[in-house]
Amino acid sequence: MANDHARENWGFETRAIHAGQHPDPTTGAVVPPITLSTTFAQDGVGDHKGFEYSRSGNPTRSALEECVAALEGATHGLSFASGLAAEDAVLRLLRPGDHLLLGNDAYGGTFRLISAVFGDWGITFTPVDLTDLDATRAAVQANTKMIWLETPTNPMLTVIDIEGVSSIARDAGAVCVVDNTFATPYLQQPLAHGADLVVHSVTKYLGGHSDVVGGFIATSDDSLEDRLRYLQNAAGAVPSPFDCYLTLRGVRTLSVRVERACDNAEAIVALLVDHPGVSTVYYPGLASHAGHDAAVRQMRRFGAMVSFVATSGAPAARAVAEATELFTLAESLGAVESLIEVPAAMTHMSTAGSPLEVDAGLVRLSVGIETSADLVADLQHALDNH
Ligand SMILES: *Cc1c(COP(=O)(O)O)cnc(C)c1O
Repeated sequence: MANDHARENWGFETRAIHAGQHPDPTTGAVVPPITLSTTFAQDGVGDHKGFEYSRSGNPTRSALEECVAALEGATHGLSFASGLAAEDAVLRLLRPGDHLLLGNDAYGGTFRLISAVFGDWGITFTPVDLTDLDATRAAVQANTKMIWLETPTNPMLTVIDIEGVSSIARDAGAVCVVDNTFATPYLQQPLAHGADLVVHSVTKYLGGHSDVVGGFIATSDDSLEDRLRYLQNAAGAVPSPFDCYLTLRGVRTLSVRVERACDNAEAIVALLVDHPGVSTVYYPGLASHAGHDAAVRQMRRFGAMVSFVATSGAPAARAVAEATELFTLAESLGAVESLIEVPAAMTHMSTAGSPLEVDAGLVRLSVGIETSADLVADLQHALDNH
């Protein structure tokens, strides 16, 4: 905290390791301790060191909040017990009678929360193709209070122009929320492109090791932060100090993990585009990808999520996903190990029959940081045999 001017100029990697993290003044411990205490001694009534009760605030959580906020270029960060708990807090900014616009291939859990939970509380929504800015503008209603976007999207890797959508939100007096889970702040910082709020499932890249569930909200808007901080405490969906410690441990290596995963994803894409068992590859790094130009404008690299359609459809998609050895058949994404899944039958089952339904032949890869040649050989073997 000593030198705020230097801190503002710190590079991404320095912030990941030092923002919110200082040697402990009493012991010199370099790693922020896991403060399990639920309550904190007061010197006089109401005279405390910034912490009273761990639902309202906890030192390990504060370290994480300061660090990830710094990575997003935000002045405020709020940690939650899961990505959906963070999203739930954001959606509670809305009132009965409000309307929101949602990208038409949003994460299945986001779609479920908005349609099946908040729908019962008088909040309506319209799924829209956010790549079409005219259609997005036309879908705004008098009561539209929020526009919710993911980019790149899950599982289609569609890229949304953050600047374009946030300017529509600004004109409408609506809050622009970006789910930055897929890109991570290393590849993309939505607040710099006009978004009001960034949400994360830290369960994915920020945690990065498939061993902690968590969520995050970053913002530089003081009044939104006020309300969200109130909700964080009032509704209480906070992460444990141990979860905060694990997340912070993952965050320190975010840049090196994401760089390596992007390298590996590019090698996998090179295999897929030439393989007869694959009809379409979705990856924003491909010049042929519809969102490639927008991705170049707003992303540092193109990420490590890759989706493709199996030429022979659903049975082939399932067979390939069951045949890989290094790519583990599992939901989730963003960790050191590579994963493979069939969204229509797994993560995106709840979108069946809705406007957000996905192709049954689609396979989604979360490319990890194993040896590149091993991953390529594993997938090639699975594709060659199905
Ligand atoms: C996983 C995920 C979520 C939900 O986060 P949880 O931590 O599972 O609650 C939200 N958005 C995206 C893009 C995700 O991948």
